[in-house]
Amino acid sequence: MKSLPYFCRGEVVRGFGRGSKELGIPTANFPDSVVDNLPADISTGIYYGWACVGNGDVYKMVMSIGWNPYYKNTKKSMETHVIHEFKEDFYGQILRVVMVGYIRPERTFDSLEALIVAINGDIEEAKLKLELPEHHKLKEDNFFISAAINGH
Ligand code: ADP
Ligand code: MG
Repeated sequence: MKSLPYFCRGEVVRGFGRGSKELGIPTANFPDSVVDNLPADISTGIYYGWACVGNGDVYKMVMSIGWNPYYKNTKKSMETHVIHEFKEDFYGQILRVVMVGYIRPERTFDSLEALIVAINGDIEEAKLKLELPEHHKLKEDNFFISAAINGH
């Protein structure tokens, strides 16, 4: 994918209550405007990268890009799970992410347990991949530093 690493930012909006948080894996949703700006070569599936909420610290993340059942699968969604325990929700805040690499395509699972096992596998892979020096550099990118200085 030529477009990686891909930087983007947007307000965290409400998703459709599919219970991600209840599974212990909350996913912060981007608005349609951010999704619509994705380059054509960014395919659906699971990505890893770095993320920052408001002017907070930069953490590892996994992101799912997929077809949203709410819109009868006509609309893509982008959902980011930040690999950090936040004390509070952050709806309405600006989320900045850099998508660094691709983990796997989208797929369905026979059970909720199988889905959770797969997501936890994605999280472990993201953690490992992001330790590579070439990926760690992106954490220090100006894109995130300007968030701390300007607050937007
Ligand atoms: P929704 O359907 O509204 O997206 P979720 O159950 O997926 O609901 O929860 C997502 C929300 O949880 C985010 O918008 C954010 O405010 C909050 N949240 C708390 N911790 C995290 C985290 N580590 N990663 C992503 N979102 C988080
Ligand atoms: Mg969500």
